[in-house]
Amino acid sequence: MENFRFDALKITLSRKPHKINPPSNRVPDFFGEMTFNKKAMREFLSHDAFNKVINAIEKGDRIERKIADQVASAMKAWAISKGATHYTHWFHPLTGATAEKHDAFVDPEKEGRAIDNFRGAELVQQEPDASSFPSGGIRNTFEARGYTAWDPTSPAFIMDGTLCIPTIFVSYTGEALDYKTPLLKALAAVDKAAVDVCRYFDRNVKKVIATLGWEQEYFLIDSALYTARPDLVLTGRTVFGHASAKDQQLSDHYFGTIQERVMDFMRNFEYEAYRLGIPIKTRHNEVAPNQFECAPVYEETNLAVDHNQLLMHLLKRVAKNHNFNVLLHEKPFAKVNGSGKHNNWSLQTNLGENLLSPGKTPKENLRFLTFMVNTLKALHTHSDLLRASIANSGNEHRLGGHEAPPAIISAFIGTQLTNTLNQIEKTGTIINGKDDGLNLNIPKIPEILLDNTDRNRTSPFAFTGNKFELRAVGSSATCSNPMMSLNLMVAEQLREFKREVDGLIKKKKGKKEAIAQVLVKYIKDSRAIRFEGNNYSEEWVKEAEKRGLPNINSTPEALKAYLTDKNVKLFESNKVLNRRELQARYNIRLENYTKQLQIESRVIGDLATNHIIPVATRYQNLLIENARGLKEVLDQKTYVKLSKNQITSIKEISEHITEVKSNVEAMKEERRKANRMDSTDDMAKAYYENVRPYLESIRYHVDKLELMVDDMLWPMPKYRELLFIK
Ligand code: ADP
Ligand code: MG
Repeated sequence: MENFRFDALKITLSRKPHKINPPSNRVPDFFGEMTFNKKAMREFLSHDAFNKVINAIEKGDRIERKIADQVASAMKAWAISKGATHYTHWFHPLTGATAEKHDAFVDPEKEGRAIDNFRGAELVQQEPDASSFPSGGIRNTFEARGYTAWDPTSPAFIMDGTLCIPTIFVSYTGEALDYKTPLLKALAAVDKAAVDVCRYFDRNVKKVIATLGWEQEYFLIDSALYTARPDLVLTGRTVFGHASAKDQQLSDHYFGTIQERVMDFMRNFEYEAYRLGIPIKTRHNEVAPNQFECAPVYEETNLAVDHNQLLMHLLKRVAKNHNFNVLLHEKPFAKVNGSGKHNNWSLQTNLGENLLSPGKTPKENLRFLTFMVNTLKALHTHSDLLRASIANSGNEHRLGGHEAPPAIISAFIGTQLTNTLNQIEKTGTIINGKDDGLNLNIPKIPEILLDNTDRNRTSPFAFTGNKFELRAVGSSATCSNPMMSLNLMVAEQLREFKREVDGLIKKKKGKKEAIAQVLVKYIKDSRAIRFEGNNYSEEWVKEAEKRGLPNINSTPEALKAYLTDKNVKLFESNKVLNRRELQARYNIRLENYTKQLQIESRVIGDLATNHIIPVATRYQNLLIENARGLKEVLDQKTYVKLSKNQITSIKEISEHITEVKSNVEAMKEERRKANRMDSTDDMAKAYYENVRPYLESIRYHVDKLELMVDDMLWPMPKYRELLFIK
């Protein structure tokens, strides 16, 4: 085994950069060429069919069977012209990954001939044999049928010679089995609610889309080193590893020059991403060594979510060509920064206006304030749901560390806006009476934009001038959950707002006064959710407790938010998920959490027992032999003097080995107890409370041994090798 590490190092050091040559240096030449986008549709569809598909995308119209047949045959022709041979319905089952089952276009005919075939029926709906996907109890095997149905709002694309058709995945009884279905419903809810509110200000607003611009962080590790770390391979993170003498203290990696091998990899995946229409805009080094980030220009949320799922897939696939492995885990290395996925979010009208962008006129500013304050109010009411949406075992290591937002959800809005809201709260009014009542106590845009510079990097939900940035999402997670939750709660809040304003208007209040009156109330009611200080500080934990804000560190606890009466009502009244579907999701997420901890616990137990203890024992024997030798050649007095350190080391190693052994045994016992529990809730709780702590205590002793044992014997690549060699 010890050779494995040194072989891996040798291989890593001999790597050569791997250049790729895109057919052109100009991105527009190949951008979106592997997607059935508007341009391809125009080319391959009749005028009528084209318009019908566009109406389906933009207005949600149904596509008739006849048109579906036309679209299918056009898609097939286009896909074959690009070299595709197969097609698949591409969906987002509750495993969190994406799924596909490929079918060939080819159909046998009489006389041994074959033709390519793809009918409307196959485009619109499929019944994959997908009974092994988690359903959280929704599908029993006797009703195991699940259907995938075409989502025309996300363009079909070709990957690895297969035409991929984005679809939703629902059960025979119509319940959602995926992440896309409820997301689309939440987006429809926020569209309707936001349009209704916009119409107080502008009758021309017909549609509002939620926008999402994600930023994806990841680590790159050489494949040889990666393979020599069974913990990375099996759990995505290192369960052992003493901190490197140097890691990120000097911040010398952050925004530094990108190394050639890495740059070649980035160019390669960006090229593939562009061909799939993913508008990657930025790339840079992140804070930790070997950590990087990429981000696209923002897009409509459903599309952006699909693009992020695709990108994560691409990152992993392209990395292989460059002998790298991509780590998307939230915390692959202890004591260096973990990885997140910031979700930048806003709302945009069909007229292209950003509803979170402060306006130029008082009217626009009142609208801005309406959406800003309603978002804060929504967050205040439903922060538990947003917290649940980002909960997973990886993120548990990251949240609350001194690098990532804490588990307490709060919003940062900047000094200028804070002053404005405080002023409104104090005076109890937004409109100061002069100029036809239109003169608002809201600062002008330049001031707000200026304020942007004092951005608070520690806030989990920060206003950054014209959008909110949700920073608590984990790097491996789909954006679907947090985006569904955020848009749903804002939808609910906007509906409530409209009810209240309409109520006042009915009582003969002027429209502006009614809006102002409700906003003033909301600003007061949601005050507790605003926090401008340092979210990493101890004071904030105390302050948040005083304010009654939840601070939930445990994933099993956080997930309970899906089952509270308040949240079930929220989901049901907006027709996004029903109680049964919520219960199913809760079960799946909880089981997934437990399984991940179970795997980590087994891996750490195996490695400690089979890799670490034997090596530590061997080294200890060398020391013993050496001490024995000294005793033979030295007189007693000199021996006692010179063997002191040796003897101390032998004892220390023994102590650590004993601790490792007894902790592994104790952990196994806790695992056995937990596994015998009948309820999913109890089991997850037991894993969190009783098994998880052993991961830390075992690690502590193994990391001490790493410092003591002869480097030549140590079996697994060390942090300094994983983080600095590429
Ligand atoms: P950083 O957080 O690294 O400093 P930025 O704040 O500049 O970076 O984040 C830029 C991200 O915000 C990009 O992904 C961009 O597409 C996204 N973004 C910009 N405007 C919007 C918007 N209106 N809606 C959603 N995302 C947006
Ligand atoms: Mg950011």
